[in-house]
Amino acid sequence: MPSPKLRVAICGGGIGGLALALVLHKFSKQDIQVDLYESKNGFSEFGAGITIWKRTWHILKLLGLEGSIGQIAVHPPVDAPKPGFAFRLSDSGEATENFYRIIAPFGSITVHRADMAKILVDKLPEGFRSHFSKRLVHYTENDRNIVTMTFADGTTAEADILIGADGVKSFTREKMYRDLAKAAEKNGDIAKAKQLEDFILPSWTGTYAYRSLVETEKLLKAQPGHQAATTPLMYLGKGRHIVSYPISRGKLINLIGFVSHPEKEGTKLEGPAVIDVPREEMISPYAGFETEARQLMECVESSSRWGISHIRGLPQYVSGRVALLGDSAHAMTTNIGAGAGQAIEDAYILGLILSEDVVNSSNLSAALKVYDSIRRPIGNAFVERSRSMGLAYEFNHIPEPAQKAGVEPSSPEGLKYLADFIFETWTANWRELPDKDWNEAQQLIQEHLSPR
Ligand SMILES: Cc1cc2nc3c(=O)[nH]c(=O)nc-3n(C[C@H](O)[C@H](O)[C@H](O)COP(=O)(O)OP(=O)(O)OC[C@H]3O[C@@H](n4cnc5c(N)ncnc54)[C@H](O)[C@@H]3O)c2cc1C
Repeated sequence: MPSPKLRVAICGGGIGGLALALVLHKFSKQDIQVDLYESKNGFSEFGAGITIWKRTWHILKLLGLEGSIGQIAVHPPVDAPKPGFAFRLSDSGEATENFYRIIAPFGSITVHRADMAKILVDKLPEGFRSHFSKRLVHYTENDRNIVTMTFADGTTAEADILIGADGVKSFTREKMYRDLAKAAEKNGDIAKAKQLEDFILPSWTGTYAYRSLVETEKLLKAQPGHQAATTPLMYLGKGRHIVSYPISRGKLINLIGFVSHPEKEGTKLEGPAVIDVPREEMISPYAGFETEARQLMECVESSSRWGISHIRGLPQYVSGRVALLGDSAHAMTTNIGAGAGQAIEDAYILGLILSEDVVNSSNLSAALKVYDSIRRPIGNAFVERSRSMGLAYEFNHIPEPAQKAGVEPSSPEGLKYLADFIFETWTANWRELPDKDWNEAQQLIQEHLSPR
């Protein structure tokens, strides 16, 4: 490449970082040099199920991934209203049935995270500059507009812009917010400094998620015709719920049991964020759940416990020539299956902005402000939606209309209000397309960056 117009460093090769690399490759005029630094010794092949909705699907299609993702999805995606998750009240001690089934464009496209990551990696252009075992541990910006990154192995690298796509425990966010807090303190604004410090680390939601992959064949052998083999399901109860959905073209069921202590939200998570636990620890909280849910749990062979943390209401996604993307900016609970999609949307908007002819090394800070203006309200709103949805599944948040009507939340009436709330909250995943956000970004670019 002759002298590039921009040198972009992406730290983190998860779904968000990889998606950004692909957007830059697809939409730039090949005048952007992209280096991706990943702390692990390769792209991660771990994970379980992630959900893709219409907003994200639209971007994946633009990236030419329609065919390959269609092949790994449980059902090849069809652009028509399709039944998605079914919801049940599972801890009432009585025989129950699905009280609601959400209808969504495409239903819900569920894929294995590892399969999805592999598709993104396979689409990287030949000669793509990925650098493994490069854990970012420090960065500085100098007055010549260069960002210098230092990695755990002692090496350094330079770029015009650093994108922190380094996940929920993002070092980039930590350093950005430590620096912002220090600056506020230096200016004598102690209250602001304290507020900014709150964003350095992710905060615990008070929820543990027990995760397992169940072989569909095993479930069907024990319980022929069990609906979890084909239907995405939510088994709801007070203070706990179970999510299950088929992945890997139906061979596996992604099973997650949530147990919440809402009073502990915002407290420090004791112990490791992720730990293997005996299967009994995953199964026992659901001893009082209906038979169908327990049958599913009985198939669990091994389990891990994840302390679910989130980042609420980050006041800025960018500072100088550094930007946060994906979980580092808006790690959220899994309750509306939006985390990966939101990371891909960040990548789409940021990648398109950086690819614009008018954007170059001299106006990067202004360009990043456009990204912040467009993506921050959306990303932050998804964090809040997902939070209140999780509380509602477990009857710790009663939707306002149900409160006004004064109905018992788990009564048939209450469940109707809950179904409305679920629909209203989930539709954010498909109500509008991200093209609307890109149109707004283009207007801002014209107003703030176009040559006069
Ligand atoms: C191993 C793994 C398994 C997951 N499994 C699931 C799942 O089953 N279901 C689901 O819904 N979501 C899962 N997620 C989360 C989901 O992928 C994210 O919510 C979403 O895709 C947003 O992705 P992201 O790229 O912002 O962050 P992530 O996917 O977390 O990617 C961050 C990347 O940055 C790297 N990194 C971290 N720190 C540094 C550093 N200092 N320097 C350089 N690189 C760094 C990490 O190794 C990782 O590859 C998983 C994430 C990971 C990392």
